[in-house]
Formats: sequence, C-alpha cells, structure tokens
Amino acid sequence: MKKKGFLLIAASIFSVLLLSACSDEKSSSTSASEDGKVQVVTTYSIVYDIVKNVGGDLVEVHSLAPVGSNPHEYDPLPEDVQKTTDADAVFYNGLNLEAGNSWFNKLMETAGKDGEDAPVFLMSKGVEAKHLTTKGKEDEEDPHAWLDIRNGIKYAENARDGLIKVDPDNKNVYEKNAEEYIAELQKLHDEAIEQFNEIPENERVLVTSEGAFKYFSEAYGFQAEYIWEINQENQGTPEQITRIVDIINEKGITGLFLETSIDPRSMNSVSDETNVPIMGKVFTDSLAKPGEDGDTYISMMEWNIKTIKEGLTQ
Ligand SMILES: [Zn+2]
Repeated sequence: MKKKGFLLIAASIFSVLLLSACSDEKSSSTSASEDGKVQVVTTYSIVYDIVKNVGGDLVEVHSLAPVGSNPHEYDPLPEDVQKTTDADAVFYNGLNLEAGNSWFNKLMETAGKDGEDAPVFLMSKGVEAKHLTTKGKEDEEDPHAWLDIRNGIKYAENARDGLIKVDPDNKNVYEKNAEEYIAELQKLHDEAIEQFNEIPENERVLVTSEGAFKYFSEAYGFQAEYIWEINQENQGTPEQITRIVDIINEKGITGLFLETSIDPRSMNSVSDETNVPIMGKVFTDSLAKPGEDGDTYISMMEWNIKTIKEGLTQ
C-alpha cells in the first residue's frame, strides 16, 4: 500500500513537471522559430556534430544522450520529449544503436514523430551493415559505422539531404557546407591510412573494452579484439576477462586501449592480469566535452589515429 501511494505521488509530480516543461518550451520555441533556425534533435554527440557542420548557422541542434554517455541506452528527460515534439528534423544513427531499451522508438511515438512522413532521418543510410558475431546475436547489426571515416562521409551526405528536405530554401548553403566538410573528412581518411601503414601489419591489433572497431578495422587493416562485443553490458564477466587475457598472451599484444565512455574497471583488470599497459584513451560512442581534445567528430578521429599509431609503434 505504502509503495503504491508513493508511486501515485511520484507519477503526479512527474506529470506536473512534464506540463510545466511543455509550457516553458512553448515560449522558447516561438522565439527560436522567430530567428528562423531549423530546430534539430540528434540522438548522440557524434551525429550532433556532423549535423552541426552541415547545418552551420541555419540550425539549432539538441543532442539527446549527453556527451560522455553511452547512447546504446538512454532515458529521455521531459525536456527531450518537448524538443523532439517541436523539432523540424530528427537525426539518428540506426544500425541498432538506439535500440537498447527501445528508448528511441518510444520517444518518437511520444513525440508524434513515428508517422511515415515524419522528418526523421537515418544517418547510416547507404552504409553496408556489419553484424555481431557473438553466438545468438548474429542477426543484430553493429552500430559503430562512424569509426570508418568513409561512413562519416555518408553521414554528412544524409545530414545534407535531410536538412534540404525540411528547409529547401537553403539548399545551396547545405550543399556548400557539406562539400567543404566532406573534403576535410576525405583528407582525414587518407591521412589515417598513411599513418597506420607505418605500423607493421601483424602488429595492428586493437584491444578495447567494447568491440566497437569492426568498421574501423576493415577500413584501416586492423584486427579488433574486445572484452565484450556490445555495450548492453558494461562490465566484463569473469569468462570474458579470461578469454581476452588468453588472446592477449597468445598474440603477444603489447598495448591496450580504453574508451572514454566506458567504465575502466574491466580493462584495468585485464591490464593487471596480463602486465600489458593501457596505452591511451580512444573515443568510440561519444565526443569529448566542449573545449577538450576530441570535442568534434574530426577531432575525436584525429585523436584516435594519433593515440593508436603511437601506442602500437612504441
Ligand atoms: Zn558502442
């Protein structure tokens, strides 16, 4: 009885909060549309940055999963619901990224953006999906396509096409922004290949906590090893730790890497058990905080290239 009463109170507080968020937002979204910006919502920080580069001054972007968090699972706040409801366009990764606890589909439904003509755009459109290899999960797509910069270029093209669809008057601006941004990405991809070619091929083995580097490995000639394959877990089981320790010993691996958006404890224990050091942090599922190295898609990829190259050639 006690619990039920508490839940009822909690539920009514929540709806009051939700209502007040709605009325607050009404006024701010009016002023935002007065200055003519396209209101955009993205599911996480990497898509946020790519859309921002293509949209420039014409867009105002709100990212749902905040910087530093794991976008596989997210609980939208009342503010997110309101911004998504008001948004002119929503951009998401797809490839199973936002599927954990179905948070994205539920949010689109609540925000009335689940219709066929809803302005909801898939950033990974045109990417050739890779699948998980863990037994029983072979049908699930691996979301981490952006770690191959050629896929980042596809994301930029999809951002451009989506923005043109919702704001056709500014087609020329989006095309020009996208062209310049894509040229930068192409240059970075070429640099990555050049840098990694300096690592002997048999030493290009990347060990991280999550198996986020499938697309990356194929693009840049690496073998990817991991503790767990996908972030529905965030601590390795004893079996997973033993498995990766054996691989590290067998392959004579000399350096490990730790993702910025992942709890470090599992990788620390792998490092302790193998006496192989962690060579640095890499960005996978999130950008760095604004003002820090890795706070844009280009900067996070530059950081990864440098860290991996240095870590494996010491
Ligand atoms: Zn991930």
